[in-house]
Amino acid sequence: MHTFAFSRATDIRQAVQDGARASTAQQGAEVRFIAGGTTLVDLMKLDVEQPAQVVDINHLPLDKVETMSDGRLKIGALVRNSDLAVSPEVQRSYTVLSQALLSGASGQLRNMATTGGNLLQRTRCVYFRDTHSACNKREPGSGCPAIDGYNRTLAILGVSPHCIATNPSDMNVALTALEATIVIQGTKGERSVAIDDFFLLPGDTPQRETVMEPGDLITHVLPKPQQGVRSHYLKLRDRASYEFALASAAVVIGMHDNKIATARIAMGGIGTRPWRSRDAEHVLAGQQPSAQLFDQAAQALLADAKPQRGNAFKRELARRCLVQALTQVTA
Ligand code: SF4
Repeated sequence: MHTFAFSRATDIRQAVQDGARASTAQQGAEVRFIAGGTTLVDLMKLDVEQPAQVVDINHLPLDKVETMSDGRLKIGALVRNSDLAVSPEVQRSYTVLSQALLSGASGQLRNMATTGGNLLQRTRCVYFRDTHSACNKREPGSGCPAIDGYNRTLAILGVSPHCIATNPSDMNVALTALEATIVIQGTKGERSVAIDDFFLLPGDTPQRETVMEPGDLITHVLPKPQQGVRSHYLKLRDRASYEFALASAAVVIGMHDNKIATARIAMGGIGTRPWRSRDAEHVLAGQQPSAQLFDQAAQALLADAKPQRGNAFKRELARRCLVQALTQVTA
């Protein structure tokens, strides 16, 4: 059993300072903020996460969904997934986000899981969760048994020779298509990061998944305002509920004169991070919807796919997923 210090934060700045101070005092020891605990507690039980300090942030004032004076939606990091999914404004103007949230996990988990925690959700790669296995993400330099091993659920886009793990979140895919901004409070103040820049490719440092630094705390998420668009989230998986995506598509489409005026395309289940495809968006822009066009967009999205033996089926699955999502949203 691993012991850890536990504290409760009631103020955002204090939480950040506590996190940074504990990290310094214990010579870089890991500090983790805990909210719903739906990822962290699991990984602590498996010994994958062994923080020296856990800071409870459930009492911070970050649990509101608000519309700001400039019309932007401000989602607090502690807003539970189930509350966000049924927020009237999210259901009305950010349909893809509501659909993605409701497709994830189970009702009980959605009641606990938070917006900030979902952004930082760790991979479901079986080797990452087994401390008897090598894994570059958990133990840098130890190797990646997934490349020649069990990789059916893992990524075909954004992979490196060091890691092919998939980002497992549905919410992150929808927020990517909605071009969200992540607001982070750190020891040097507040900063805003576009979601495209928030998630890192594995490269040769797969242990680093986001731009978060020690002590950093996500406070809010700001999806880009959407007007005159239709959006949809389609998730394909092994069973109908409580399952991660093998392929999913978040599409946000603006139509004008029966043509696609704007397109935002992101896919899940196939990338090492939520996979935005500007190539697919470029194919769609200015064109009349058709099965052939959607297929061309999917081919553009998958042009750089590098499947392994166990997940080669994902190329065709992802193609069909995107074509079907586009067909539904433009119907
Ligand atoms: Fe670890 Fe990534 Fe390889 Fe899975 S794919 S074993 S997470 S390095």
